[in-house]
Amino acid sequence: AGGEARAGNGGAAKMPEIRHTKLFINGRFVDAVSGKTFETRDPRTGDVIASIAEGDKEDVDLAVRAAREAFDHGEWPRMSGSERGRVMLKYAELVEQHAEELAALESLDAGKPLAVARVVDVGNSVDSLRYFAGAADKIHGETLKMSRQLHGYTLREPVGVAGLIVPWNFPAIMFFSKVSPALAAGCTMVVKPAEQTPLSALFLAHLAKQAGVPDGVINVITGFGPTAGAAISSHMDIDVVAFTGSTEVGRLIMEASARSNLKPVALELGGKSPLIIFDDADLDKAVELAISGNFFNKGEACFAGSRVFVQEGIYDRFVQKIADTIKNWVVGDPFDPRVNQGPQVDKIQYDRVLRYIEHGKAQGATVLTGGKPCGKKGYYIEPTIFTDVKDDMIIAKEEIFGPVMCLMKFKTVEEAIRRGNDTRYGLAAGVVTRDMGVANRMARSIRAGVVWLNCYFAMESTCPFGGRKMSGFGKDDGMHALDKFIAVKAVVCPVDASPW
Ligand code: NAD
Repeated sequence: AGGEARAGNGGAAKMPEIRHTKLFINGRFVDAVSGKTFETRDPRTGDVIASIAEGDKEDVDLAVRAAREAFDHGEWPRMSGSERGRVMLKYAELVEQHAEELAALESLDAGKPLAVARVVDVGNSVDSLRYFAGAADKIHGETLKMSRQLHGYTLREPVGVAGLIVPWNFPAIMFFSKVSPALAAGCTMVVKPAEQTPLSALFLAHLAKQAGVPDGVINVITGFGPTAGAAISSHMDIDVVAFTGSTEVGRLIMEASARSNLKPVALELGGKSPLIIFDDADLDKAVELAISGNFFNKGEACFAGSRVFVQEGIYDRFVQKIADTIKNWVVGDPFDPRVNQGPQVDKIQYDRVLRYIEHGKAQGATVLTGGKPCGKKGYYIEPTIFTDVKDDMIIAKEEIFGPVMCLMKFKTVEEAIRRGNDTRYGLAAGVVTRDMGVANRMARSIRAGVVWLNCYFAMESTCPFGGRKMSGFGKDDGMHALDKFIAVKAVVCPVDASPW
């Protein structure tokens, strides 16, 4: 299983030049106040790619000051929505023009197949900017006919300085999932990319300046979570925090808000999503969805359909088919065009995933395919499928965030609903069936932020995405994504203009 492992082959693609390694504050690249740096590494080899400025509390303070100045006195929040939209369209155009460079940075820093990064990571980034550019001039309030004597209306104003903390699995997409709606709303912001993947955020900050985003509107602080990240979540002069990452850190972000200025927070957290396949499903399609739903982005996806429930009538054929199909799945150097799956992002994640695989074996699950690392160097893991998985096993309950699928058998719709919902998470779900009655019933019964019927991880900027339960709250994408960056203000006046 796992196809040919071609870890560390180099590949013909051009390596990107690393041009930006410093913090981006008030429109300039600057060293950290402390002068400290940290290393970002190539997951194909573990070798150092570049030294990056290590921001901390003092740097966050400088960035917040710049963002505050740009918000209180700058033009960005005061422009009309259509003017902001025009700048954002220019920004999208620049990202598109630099697609090759951005895709290569993502592949190098995060270990994504270059061909996928071009389409998914760059494509989604550009779409996000264009979608929210179009939304910028459609942010408007309501008029209220109150009592006979009173007339009211609402203003939807930018909330202020936003702190945006994002993870490493889709660095550019995560950047824009927060930055695009924040820009459209008229906020200014301090972004902290993940320490594992700082390169694309710095590159994108540079393109924002070229596009005409005024200085101080987007600031990027590279650095670690407990220092730079915590300085953002506990800052007294940040008005909202939008976070994507683990449930554990989401809890720390809420605590930090409660202990500082009670800033609202929006949290996109982990998942353990069910993918439920009924007897009448198209077998080929179901297998394809289970594979992409679990092994796309080497399983480093919060929306991974990592609990695959297969109805008993199709179960044996499904197991046979998926074991055969996965043989064509190629693990190896992400710059090699034949590769489907690159290395895990770093040694920590690699070790963590391998530990989960050992838990699965120790608790009695059967390894159908994979189950071990591959390649001579770097952080490659074979796509791993477990059968005989029980709902209470660690691998069935905890988010693994790696290429590990749990296969489980079920009998009835009721059982699928009960077991599908038996998780502390509620991010996503998939249902594969030809029976629209079953599909609709499942869609209504599964407690998740999105239910994909006969598809999986079908995400676009137009469609709200975000979880329930311990997968968090607040939406990225869709018009709902604007809500966290907007304050609704009511204005009331007497109908009769003469003073009361
Ligand atoms: P993480 O929570 O450790 O890190 C995410 C970000 O938070 C990083 O930028 C990190 O530096 C920062 N951070 C860490 N500690 C912090 C602290 N104390 N205060 C403030 N910021 C801090 O997550 P990770 O392990 O890097 O990423 C994987 C997790 O992210 C998974 O659990 C996954 O499900 C989740 N995720 C969720 C979504 C979603 O949309 N729901 C998307 C991608 C990833």
